[in-house]
Amino acid sequence: MAVVVKNESIRIEKLELGPFGTNTYILTCPKTSMSAVVDAPGEADKILERLKGTNPKCILMTHNHMDHVGSLLELKSKLSVPVAVHSADAGNLPLEPDQNLSDGDLVSIGEIQITVLHTPGHTPGSLCFLTGSYLISGDTIFPGGPGKTWSPAAFKQIVESLTSKIFVLPDETEVYPGHGGATTLKKEKQNFDIFSSKPHDPKLCGDVVWLSS
Ligand SMILES: [Zn+2]
Ligand SMILES: [Zn+2]
Repeated sequence: MAVVVKNESIRIEKLELGPFGTNTYILTCPKTSMSAVVDAPGEADKILERLKGTNPKCILMTHNHMDHVGSLLELKSKLSVPVAVHSADAGNLPLEPDQNLSDGDLVSIGEIQITVLHTPGHTPGSLCFLTGSYLISGDTIFPGGPGKTWSPAAFKQIVESLTSKIFVLPDETEVYPGHGGATTLKKEKQNFDIFSSKPHDPKLCGDVVWLSS
């Protein structure tokens, strides 16, 4: 567990959980103590422990992959809060979601405003959550590369998602992905610029690394 952001308007905690060490993020509004959980990879007890003293409002899902949903049923039943996901990823969840999220939606957690960005490519319903200069990016962007894609069309789609919705955000935006450590958009825009200045196999997909693919 680590508090990765703490200021007068937001606290963000990161927990690496479950068999794949997937990140859960807990966003808390310090003024109202309202909180939101992003992804539910496993070990619900650890998430519940960290939510103590806060008033959880919802569980936001970046996408539906199994390494992000392991404790979703248990969390939902213990917290009794709505589970929100993009409709294109709703089908493979272990439960029926309560709320569909679309690009541009605003979610309020106390005084925290979260903007929903639909960034398909890794999955059709992949979402990123932006609040102030913090981006919870799911498996859409990592330090050094995009999330995994399983076809050239999906790779083109994730690049389109990144260039149209993510790389247009300010350089100082901090990126908190679904696995591993954080990065900044300044670094990732630089990496991507180098990638896009070179020719690439039109069949490129999979685990792409901007500087070596
Ligand atoms: Zn994934
Ligand atoms: Zn993942």
